[in-house]
Amino acid sequence: MKKDHIVFWDIDGTLMHCGSDGKVALNATFADLYGITDAFSSAPIGSSTDAVLIGDLMRSFGISENDLEKIHEHYHKTLQKVLAGDRKKRILPGVLSLLDAIDARPSHKSALLTSNLKIGAYAKLESVGLHTYFKFGGFGDEPVEKWDVAEQCIQAAEQRYSTVFSRNQIFLIGDSDYDVVSAQKLGINSIAVATGWVSADRLLESRPDYFFEDLSETSKVLKILGI
Ligand SMILES: [Mg+2]
Repeated sequence: MKKDHIVFWDIDGTLMHCGSDGKVALNATFADLYGITDAFSSAPIGSSTDAVLIGDLMRSFGISENDLEKIHEHYHKTLQKVLAGDRKKRILPGVLSLLDAIDARPSHKSALLTSNLKIGAYAKLESVGLHTYFKFGGFGDEPVEKWDVAEQCIQAAEQRYSTVFSRNQIFLIGDSDYDVVSAQKLGINSIAVATGWVSADRLLESRPDYFFEDLSETSKVLKILGI
């Protein structure tokens, strides 16, 4: 059977919690390589891709674009270390059951949709054992908005599975109003979950199609996903 439903998952605050590990690793990278302290402390992490954040910072400190690969490598290693030492990181409620149920359905496919660099996204997922659920997705490696990344990802999935996904059979589960807005721009279903940094009130103001305090009511979520 062809895949005809895609479930996009945000990572931080949706699939898992790993506190400020991403920011800690980015700050450590710029401190180690350039002696810049607290570089990302006021950056809008979560509402802009990592590529935009890193690019803006490199420009503001006059760092050459040629250093990008070195920065990515250092960030990857540092993030893996920070995650390994984080005893509080965890998978959020309901997530494992939902991923297993989606995996078991030939018609459904989970995909990532995150502002994290791809290397950062997989480092986070691997640290809690979730990486095996995701074979493809959209990442924050390009300086574009999340909905643009998702659009490219949908097109790639259509090629991969030789099908055309109807927009009402695509879902985006996320913990921020940015996720809801991204889904609205794409004309796909938004499922907001208040397990991240954004308050339930602010999430509801963004008018998601569905809202949950957390994803522990898995049967309700699966019904929405058509499972
Ligand atoms: Mg998030």
